[in-house]
Amino acid sequence: MTVKNATAFVFDSSTKTFESKTITLGSTAEGETVVEILYTTICTSDLHTYCGRRPLDSPTILGHEIVGRITHLPTNTTRDYTNQPLALGDLITWCVYTYDEHDPFAQKGYPQKSISLYKYGHHPFKNKELNGGFATHCILKQGTALFKLNSKLSLKEAAPLNCTHATIAGGIRLAGPLRDKTVLIYGAGMLGLSAAAQTSTAGAKQVILCDINAERLAIAKKFGAHLSLDSTLPTEEKKKILADLQLSIDIVLDTTGIPAVMQESIELLDIGGISIWIGAVFHQDATPINAEQLVRKLLTIKGLHNYIPEDLATAIQFLEEHHTHFPFGALVHSEFHLKDLADAFQTASTGQHFRVGITPNTK
Ligand SMILES: [Zn+2]
Repeated sequence: MTVKNATAFVFDSSTKTFESKTITLGSTAEGETVVEILYTTICTSDLHTYCGRRPLDSPTILGHEIVGRITHLPTNTTRDYTNQPLALGDLITWCVYTYDEHDPFAQKGYPQKSISLYKYGHHPFKNKELNGGFATHCILKQGTALFKLNSKLSLKEAAPLNCTHATIAGGIRLAGPLRDKTVLIYGAGMLGLSAAAQTSTAGAKQVILCDINAERLAIAKKFGAHLSLDSTLPTEEKKKILADLQLSIDIVLDTTGIPAVMQESIELLDIGGISIWIGAVFHQDATPINAEQLVRKLLTIKGLHNYIPEDLATAIQFLEEHHTHFPFGALVHSEFHLKDLADAFQTASTGQHFRVGITPNTK
């Protein structure tokens, strides 16, 4: 390795401040890959932590929507997760966590719930480990699923892959085949727009995006939505609009995590419908469910937290094939240098941006 030092901005949750730390890039442990970070986007869950809505062990290097270039590769790592050859200098993303494949939950097909889970951008900064996105480098532990990226993707497009797009790919996996289905997506943030793009690309007959924010809904069509719906309308009015358009909802994807919204999804789903909940990742009141409706309408509710590595592979394939059709890069409205991370978080926490981007590059 040519670089000897890395810089990380370590978050302290008690003071809500970021402190710059210099960390020597010494020898790596067995199986570790070193990445020079090229771009990180501030995810909504980073903001949950920053604003105190989601408790996290601190100090921490936040940031998990990362893209970077390999500067050190273990000699026995020659291929990525999808069997593409890997080499120094390759642009990569990676699964947001690493786990032990022998873990009982991993064996059951839930690697994201492994007891030994180690999550980038979340794990405490205890042993000066470079494990988050708001730094110049990230060290990836043995067993992390690495994915080589096509350099045609811009950094702004690529950074949200390993959280936003992969989580949506996981939700779609749970929903099953989408061809000729009508999909209702709650929330027109980055997750909802990704869901619109991915479900329309996957063959959904109608994609409806529902949000309270008219400005966000105004761009819904650019991301594959056929129809937008004002979330502030009463449920009965929404039912009437859908009935007038002869639309019956087969699949709901909730990215909001708002109990009343998830409750409404049960009202709006047609017979045999599936409601996928991915937004409820913060402390909240219980969501009341009408069990009789669930039973009589043969409904299914599925939750998804994080995703599995195959979902990231699906998301990468989607974005590499379709990135010219959807203006995801334009959703990174504002960009800051790493040294101005505190300002970047202030800007991101106004809620006026889909994503704020961080670049360690001073050039
Ligand atoms: Zn995230």
